[in-house]
Amino acid sequence: MLWRGREGSSNVEDRRGISGGGLAVGGGIGGLIIGLLYMLLGGNPSDAPVLLPGQHAEQGKQYDPQQNPADDTLAQFVSVVLHDTEDVWGDLMKNYQQPKLVLFSDAVQSACGSASAATGPFYCPGDEKVYIDLSFFRELKERFGAPGDFAMAYVVAHEVGHHIQNLLGTSDKVRALQQQAGEREGNKLSVKLELQADFLAGVWANHAQKMKNILQPGDIEEALRAANAIGDDRLQEETQGRVVPDAFTHGTSAQRMYWFKKGYETGDIKQGDTFDDPSLR
Ligand SMILES: [Zn+2]
Repeated sequence: MLWRGREGSSNVEDRRGISGGGLAVGGGIGGLIIGLLYMLLGGNPSDAPVLLPGQHAEQGKQYDPQQNPADDTLAQFVSVVLHDTEDVWGDLMKNYQQPKLVLFSDAVQSACGSASAATGPFYCPGDEKVYIDLSFFRELKERFGAPGDFAMAYVVAHEVGHHIQNLLGTSDKVRALQQQAGEREGNKLSVKLELQADFLAGVWANHAQKMKNILQPGDIEEALRAANAIGDDRLQEETQGRVVPDAFTHGTSAQRMYWFKKGYETGDIKQGDTFDDPSLR
């Protein structure tokens, strides 16, 4: 992806190097730990617990770049991608409200509760912020075998996709449905929401390319490799040695690739109705 020297976003909150993500309350509010379940582009917002009003994390303090200079390049990259999402979604949606993006290290407090780096990147509808610990990108490359800057751009765009779903009211609807549904049905709804976020990431890639010509050869393949690497089936097989479709919350590798690709190829937000897709019933 062509990103160096391009403008970054002013919506990045840097909370790296702040223990607990800057909240001066011990033990995490109500002991809410989002936990490992939300790993990997997880952050299923519908399940995330909500903090009481008035419990806000502090704004980020200065991060010490001495600590990990490579991370500053990554932080800059994320900022440019976020800015690209602002331009694209600002163009595609009326009165687009830009989300904030919080960079954290190790642990963070969000309006959806506290989270650790193991949570993976997530979006919290309660404060309309995307949360990313940059160590996830190392994991994506090393543990999941999905290197490349566009793999990372896909991750950011997926989380911003959840923000779009929040603005459109989709996540609220899904949450309401999940409250009445059993676990199996609830997981299915989660899959549809996640695949739609993948689709929206693809739509973003399509328009970002049209607007700014940012793609380099191999970029889309990088994103697809990432989508493939973090499908539920593949992860389950790696972590549990077997595949349990009813426990899927994000969709299979094939589904994730399919929806990203569909978004990328059509660039048409109307084509992303994962909730009405017969193959996902
Ligand atoms: Zn997601």
